[in-house]
Amino acid sequence: MQRVQKIIKCKITDLTNVKEAQLSSEFKNVQTLLQLEKEGLDFLPLYKNLQLHSANRQQALRFYKRIDANKDYPVSVRKDLIKIEEKNNKLAKYWCRIPVRGRRGGLWVAIKPHQDFPEKFEFGESKVFRKKNHKGRWNWWIYITVVRQVQIKESYSNILAIDLGSKVTATVCGSFDNRPIFLGREVRGIRRHYQYLRTQLGRKKLLKKIRQMSDKEQRRVNDILHKISKHVVETAEHTDSYIVLGDLKGIRNSTGEKGRMFRRIVSNMPYLRLTQYVEYKAREKGIKVVRISERNSSVTCSRCGCADRGNRKSQGLFRCRSCGFEINADVNGVRNILKFSGGYMLPERAASDPAPERAFSAQPELPCLRR
Ligand SMILES: [Zn+2]
Repeated sequence: MQRVQKIIKCKITDLTNVKEAQLSSEFKNVQTLLQLEKEGLDFLPLYKNLQLHSANRQQALRFYKRIDANKDYPVSVRKDLIKIEEKNNKLAKYWCRIPVRGRRGGLWVAIKPHQDFPEKFEFGESKVFRKKNHKGRWNWWIYITVVRQVQIKESYSNILAIDLGSKVTATVCGSFDNRPIFLGREVRGIRRHYQYLRTQLGRKKLLKKIRQMSDKEQRRVNDILHKISKHVVETAEHTDSYIVLGDLKGIRNSTGEKGRMFRRIVSNMPYLRLTQYVEYKAREKGIKVVRISERNSSVTCSRCGCADRGNRKSQGLFRCRSCGFEINADVNGVRNILKFSGGYMLPERAASDPAPERAFSAQPELPCLRR
């Protein structure tokens, strides 16, 4: 069993004026409390008499240690004090109870979650805060952490291998089908585009603009990464595969591949985030993810298994010194990952060739495969 934690983002809707005032007062008093605490003014009567639910007060003091004067801090709601009810009434499907001072039994508010709540779960910590909408009015939100126990499957029919590269974000190949697919090709272009814009703006010292643009870039890239990871995990689900990921360290350590420009692109590539998204989404569905070292997958020939440092001809194309095999470098990488994990044997491989396993070291235990 594995613990899967998820944050369900809920907009608080249809607040009456009275309820909004109570929520607002609780929120503002948390800010006051933290400011007083920060300035060491906890001896003031104001500090002691702040109208705050006692648990909310404790949570705030416990969680927020370093206080930034220009920031608002959410009301942190203890997991045993929050409650959700599926009421399905005219106003909303879900209602949520938030503890506030001066309202016995808590404040019941209608919420609109960005996705349905799972059938069985436990609560984690939740956070109540406000955001300004484009009309300049406050919208209230509660982010609810739900915790589930998921059974990770132990046996599978197939393997889905993923190679993370710089040219295409992910090359994916399953043991059920030897045609690889390329996902996230557009990421590199997006990153280069913004890098160019930043350089242009940097000359004019438009720092605020640069920051805004970086946020936008981040959002666009993240969006693509979420789509890729969703696709990968759904494919694994449909094909009853476990997922093998080439571990990142190999790429990070590789040098001498066209100098600074190349290294900058590589180190900025969102590998880590993609890996995390895939691992997270897979765990939610009970699918196992195994990481294997990628160090040699780029220099090993996926046909003859020869692992020679001199094998990689260029960024895009792999050429084997010993058998002359030429193939797209990302495809070669993903085939090696798949091959190593035991699910894939190219028909070209002769029985006398060295086993590709030799090229990899210290690999984790792999789940069992049903044949
Ligand atoms: Zn070869």
